[in-house]
Amino acid sequence: MKCWHCEEPARAACKFCGRFVCKEHVKPMATFIAMYLGSTETPKGLAVANVVWCGECEPQPEPVPMPELY
Ligand SMILES: [Zn+2]
Ligand SMILES: [Zn+2]
Repeated sequence: MKCWHCEEPARAACKFCGRFVCKEHVKPMATFIAMYLGSTETPKGLAVANVVWCGECEPQPEPVPMPELY
């Protein structure tokens, strides 16, 4: 499998869309993987600071409204 951007062998797959990228073209991105209530009833988010992102797709932080479905 080759990088989406160049002809180098891929080193990782984008967490969001699955495209493969090499070490040169991988982009770090922060994402939330879980929400939970902490010991003081404070909602907390478990975040991962450097997930693999291809730099090509556009991950949305929230569900995208799709009014055309109505
Ligand atoms: Zn590349
Ligand atoms: Zn992607």
